[in-house]
Amino acid sequence: MPYKVLLVNPNRYLSPPVPPIGLEYVAACLEKKGHKSEIIDLCFSKDLYKDIDDSVISFKPDLVGLTVRNVDTVLYHTNEFFLDDIKDIVNHVKSKHGLKVIIGGTGVSTNPEGILEYLNADFAIAGPAESEIQWFLNKFQNPESKKKIFKGNCRDCVSCNRKPATTTYYKKYFDAGGIAGFETHKGCSSSCIYCIEANSKVSFKGVENVMSEIKRFVDIGYNHFHLCDSELNENLEYSIDLCTALKNSGMNIKWAVYMKPGNFNKKLFILLKDTGVYLVTLTVDSWQKSPDYWSIVENFVSSAKSSGLKVAVDFLTGFPYEDEDKLSWCLDLFRKINPDSVGVNTYIRLYKPLRITSIILKDAKLRGNLLGNIDDRTFVKPVFYNHINTEKLNQLINGDALFRIEGIEKGVNYTRV
Ligand code: SF4
Repeated sequence: MPYKVLLVNPNRYLSPPVPPIGLEYVAACLEKKGHKSEIIDLCFSKDLYKDIDDSVISFKPDLVGLTVRNVDTVLYHTNEFFLDDIKDIVNHVKSKHGLKVIIGGTGVSTNPEGILEYLNADFAIAGPAESEIQWFLNKFQNPESKKKIFKGNCRDCVSCNRKPATTTYYKKYFDAGGIAGFETHKGCSSSCIYCIEANSKVSFKGVENVMSEIKRFVDIGYNHFHLCDSELNENLEYSIDLCTALKNSGMNIKWAVYMKPGNFNKKLFILLKDTGVYLVTLTVDSWQKSPDYWSIVENFVSSAKSSGLKVAVDFLTGFPYEDEDKLSWCLDLFRKINPDSVGVNTYIRLYKPLRITSIILKDAKLRGNLLGNIDDRTFVKPVFYNHINTEKLNQLINGDALFRIEGIEKGVNYTRV
């Protein structure tokens, strides 16, 4: 039976504003299976509840799907918690319109049960929702079904399209300093203990699908992108194929990417430069690294820079049992390899399923370094681990302009270059 699903973007964070591309993928997948969908974007709304009411009255949905991109800003000093505003929207939709609400998005994966309960939503999909929402729709009106939380995975979303961009919809984002984005894959095979994506199933999109997404933007006059993958270089061969197709397409774009240490070579960096990449943000952390990790970081930075790419390092450090000598050693290494900038963060946001969280909870001494909502063991409200505070970090950095302490000011790397 076909359903009508109203997809709501409640994300109103403007530093920078981020288009709801997850909803665009879900909308296209729903329509491919014969359902109807409409996206209501509240990012720039002047009157949230009127806009929601107008959409519900005109579209008459059977169900509301709501994306939770982030629970909070993840930064300690300038933290903004988003769930209370989202909860008000969920309650409005349920009480005024009598509709059921399903939540999805990256934020849900941080604690599906906890977020579902906090928001008073009816159902949740943790993980990619493109395929799972079809399965959910087959069951959601079955009174026998008691299941509330569904585990998202990519059954056929690897070739999933995306609801086409329109000039009016994206213009607001461009005018407010935002840029368009696209995905090449879901998931990450790395094991970073502080990351909710760690060891998640990897599914690549067809290169031709990615090209047609980019082309739709270029055709309506937009050519500036940020890759929405956690890290571009999950697979070197795929990354090279993608960049080769982009180069051969002749599309003239500029784009910024996230990458991790590993899965790179000179050919990839030259292709990135040739296809308009102006910034690589490299994810680096100091937790229990293998002996060759730091030489990989060094080779990455020198090879990327010699290919003409700017490299900004995002460096997470100050993990349990690490001392100041270790941090000083890392800072000296960055001084030696000299990327374009290093953002240093010693305040680590904890989530319930993370390995770092269980390590900390088992050790009373480490628990003494928790900050924020330290009695909330659901970790829905922000809890941070920190034992090297900003004052100490400032002393270690000693005014060196290479480094920037993350979280003091708003913004992301591409808005700073
Ligand atoms: S490489 Fe990036 S996305 Fe992957 S687990 Fe580590 S931090 Fe997460």
